[in-house]
Amino acid sequence: MCGIIGYASKNLDSCSVALSCLKNLEYRGYDSSGVATSEQGKINMYKAQGKIANLEEKIKDHEISASTAIAHTRWATHGEPSETNAHPHKVGHVTLVHNGIIENYSDIKQDLLSKGMNFVSETDSEVACGYINYMYEQTGDKMASIKAACDEFRGSYALPIIFDDEPNTIYAVRKNSPLIVGKSDDGNFVSSDVSAILNYTNKYVLLDNDEFVKVTNDNVEIFDSNLNKIEKKVDTATWSAVEYQKNGYDHFMLKEIYEQPKVVKNILGKFYDDIDFTKYDNIHIVACGSAMHAGMVAKYLLENNAKIRTTVEIASEYRYKENLITPSTLVIIISQSGETADTLAALRLAKEQGAYVLAIVNVVGSSIAREADKTIYTYAGPEIAVATTKGYSSQVATLTNVALTIMKQKGLLEDSVMDTFYKDIEKIETLAEDLINSRDMYKAIANKLYTHENVLYIGRGIDSASCMEGSLKLKEISYIHSEAYAAGELKHGTISLVDQGTPVITIATVDNLYEKTISNLKETKARGGYTLLITTENQNVDNIKDSLDDVIILPKVSEFLESLLVVIVLQLIAYETAILRGADIDKPKNLAKSVTVE
Ligand code: GLU
Repeated sequence: MCGIIGYASKNLDSCSVALSCLKNLEYRGYDSSGVATSEQGKINMYKAQGKIANLEEKIKDHEISASTAIAHTRWATHGEPSETNAHPHKVGHVTLVHNGIIENYSDIKQDLLSKGMNFVSETDSEVACGYINYMYEQTGDKMASIKAACDEFRGSYALPIIFDDEPNTIYAVRKNSPLIVGKSDDGNFVSSDVSAILNYTNKYVLLDNDEFVKVTNDNVEIFDSNLNKIEKKVDTATWSAVEYQKNGYDHFMLKEIYEQPKVVKNILGKFYDDIDFTKYDNIHIVACGSAMHAGMVAKYLLENNAKIRTTVEIASEYRYKENLITPSTLVIIISQSGETADTLAALRLAKEQGAYVLAIVNVVGSSIAREADKTIYTYAGPEIAVATTKGYSSQVATLTNVALTIMKQKGLLEDSVMDTFYKDIEKIETLAEDLINSRDMYKAIANKLYTHENVLYIGRGIDSASCMEGSLKLKEISYIHSEAYAAGELKHGTISLVDQGTPVITIATVDNLYEKTISNLKETKARGGYTLLITTENQNVDNIKDSLDDVIILPKVSEFLESLLVVIVLQLIAYETAILRGADIDKPKNLAKSVTVE
């Protein structure tokens, strides 16, 4: 996934500026990092394994006065995370950093090896560098050599490139990996996203696939896929740099959990009447990870309440199978970053097959937002922690509005439902804040969980969808294995995992499913499980006290809102458990936030 940045400065500060921007991109990968600098016309490279802090430590004693720099924070796809495989890569006259995958790099590598070229790393990126260098040696034309190489590359790339004989110019190109150009009075940038450069400028240009750019400290030239010069609109970012700071919180994840009540409150209650949902009789929700879980929650609201057949599909599966799209299929694509590679590919496939595609996206101007027929932005603000919290809730809140809009358009929305909903929206922010503030309760639960290696989450109906998100949250940040199960399904095999003390977290907020779910909880208690019940205040838990080790009681709110409270509890249980296990909360191992690889 990698984060990339390039900066051509009017001052000699391009290395320090590039590294400070790179830190804002660390969410995209953090197994190694590196920077190439132009210092008095000479290209130098500095690399380190691990986080950017290691690179800073390594270069702190060098006095670097660089007019131009390109830098990279890596999420390895080809070759282990090592200093040799870290970017930048340099072959001949060409130095570059790469975000993406060159799928046909093996063939190109064989060809270049047969021509006598040597490679030091295992990466596809070094091969891309070698190929551009080879083309440059043939043609002597920089832009043409980059284009000729790109014509051969299959896969995805955002490539800032510096040539030895023009060390103060950054050439760049993108295809299927994000890249923007930032403009400031002190110099110009290329970057994986605009958030990285907000401390220096909020003026940026979005590059489209197959566009090329030539950046110097006082000029930016953009070219289309045929290398014709084009003019593009300069946008102004609305998110501010301060939103990218921890602002006193121990972790971004905690900060984002605290931001959740306001985010959700701001979204809820809108109707999307500019879309005629009555044209559709079935919905495909397509997404990955937590966004897919948001879709699972929505499925219950859309089917139970809006009476529309809804299937929720994993994007990496959807794109390779027969999806039976008809003229009355609405495809809803969900992605926080708007760059998720498989989700973007699924969007393109659905459009090719004639579907109307509605996207639910947080990042304005992202690829998914631009390519969908219609985009609803969640406006959750920047989410930095790799494990999503407010991003997920903002998707659930948006999908809740979609369900209510469909109900309204179909004449299914009763006044009494809306009355409760609107009354509860007024309270939801305070209720959510109260829940978040019960930190001691989550710490006590975490104390019972953190020594275990397996946890089960069970629930029925919409709660079974929340279980999936709760389980994923625990896995990704605490590294405890967990599984989410529809409560009634547990006895068909998985209950064999329940032993003395095995933690089983049961969610039971749906009135007509409560008793059935409690029976399933009791089945786990009978086998020695540690039982935590999460339920609502209207349920009588006194008569099942013997079966409960712990209970968390939530306020009873409209069925459209309950899962938004449930997930806060699940997030904070995962958070406190991860703290006790000493895990790296904001940057869990092996992960990255914006998943731009397939
Ligand atoms: N494929 C490159 C590498 O492994 C870049 C990885 C990426 O952008 O995710 O170094």
